[in-house]
Amino acid sequence: MVNGNSKTSDEMRENLNFSFPGSVWERELGGSPSPLNAIIIGSGPSGLAAAILLAQIGLRVVIIDRKQFPRHRPGETLHPGIEPLLKQLGVADRVFSADFLRHEGNWVKWEGDLRFVPFGEDDAGKWRGFQAWRADFDAILLDRAIALGVEVRQPCRALQPIVSANRIAGIETSDGYLPASFVIDAAGGGHWLARQLKLPINNYSPRLIAYFGYVEGDCSIRDRAPAIVADKDGWIWTAKVRPHLYQWTRLPFRNQPIEKNWIPEEFHGLQPKGKTSTADVTWRLVPACAGSGYFMVGDAAAVVDPASSHGVLKAIMSGMMAAHLIIQIVKGAIELEAIQAYRQWVDNWFHHDISRLKELYAILPNPPHWL
Ligand SMILES: Cc1cc2nc3c(=O)[nH]c(=O)nc-3n(C[C@H](O)[C@H](O)[C@H](O)COP(=O)(O)OP(=O)(O)OC[C@H]3O[C@@H](n4cnc5c(N)ncnc54)[C@H](O)[C@@H]3O)c2cc1C
Repeated sequence: MVNGNSKTSDEMRENLNFSFPGSVWERELGGSPSPLNAIIIGSGPSGLAAAILLAQIGLRVVIIDRKQFPRHRPGETLHPGIEPLLKQLGVADRVFSADFLRHEGNWVKWEGDLRFVPFGEDDAGKWRGFQAWRADFDAILLDRAIALGVEVRQPCRALQPIVSANRIAGIETSDGYLPASFVIDAAGGGHWLARQLKLPINNYSPRLIAYFGYVEGDCSIRDRAPAIVADKDGWIWTAKVRPHLYQWTRLPFRNQPIEKNWIPEEFHGLQPKGKTSTADVTWRLVPACAGSGYFMVGDAAAVVDPASSHGVLKAIMSGMMAAHLIIQIVKGAIELEAIQAYRQWVDNWFHHDISRLKELYAILPNPPHWL
């Protein structure tokens, strides 16, 4: 995993260095050693997956979030492929018994007629995805982290990184300084650490804004499975996420705002719950998503629009991958090689995802002009 790189250590070090003059650490802490193995910013699935793996081998971890749980996030629909990861994290039983709605596939209307696309099946039966209400799903992961000894601070906001000798050495938070051997940015698509360090965030699509909201009531055609339906301007996703509660997402390809109070036609007659929200889902990647003393995981490292339908799965996988590499470094692996391996891994799956999305969008009757 972390070997077999053709670059010399000096070349790699050159590539990974950044300067942050007059850092908090140097000014105020004088370089004292850290008792913490890792501080994780953000208690979404990426940060919590990393926290759980690190704590499972006895490392000392603090995870912070600017919001107190329970807090709402979009992203309820989980592909059945998430099950092995939930088992590794020790939360599968809790997730199975949480009464999340399950579905065997998705309705798809893309280049042709509406059709049902099942996930598949094996000897144990049909594979089923989850509609995991994020406040509950994230709380299950948080409980597991706490049970393993992770210290949780909420609400607690990351303010700026502590930098010492070109290494990220902790975080200044609204709770004070938290020096640590490793910092994991799991704070989502705002790219907190990348912005603090002024690292490039590369865009691979024009600006894409997703609109989303919730409606209450009953819509029997959406009870069996979610649907993704393309039209000439973009696509609409609809899903039943809880009893009597439905979620919708609209992605216009041309960045034209949707009308005020718009909801999908199938939900006409249902009661909007809360306001329509927006999220920047421009395809983007932070190439330096790992560096000296830090890893970026989940949306903090890379974002693709939700048609890829794997945001939470990828968040968990990247959190686990970063934790795995930190464990290897703690056990004596060379950090520069781990950093390069992580950057390469994130780059590979990001480019794989966007080429799949391009193929998917290219077969539409009216593909986006920017493909
Ligand atoms: C409209 C929409 C629909 C989606 N639907 C799906 C779906 O159906 N299935 C799916 O798999 N994915 C979906 N996604 C993607 C999914 O929501 C994300 O990929 C996933 O939440 C990323 O998890 P994360 O852990 O990286 O970040 P997040 O879940 O965003 O968690 C980040 C956490 O960091 C905290 N934070 C932020 N800044 C700070 C700070 N400065 N200090 C401390 N804490 C901070 C936040 O409060 C938050 O709790 C959707 C996305 C959108 C926008």
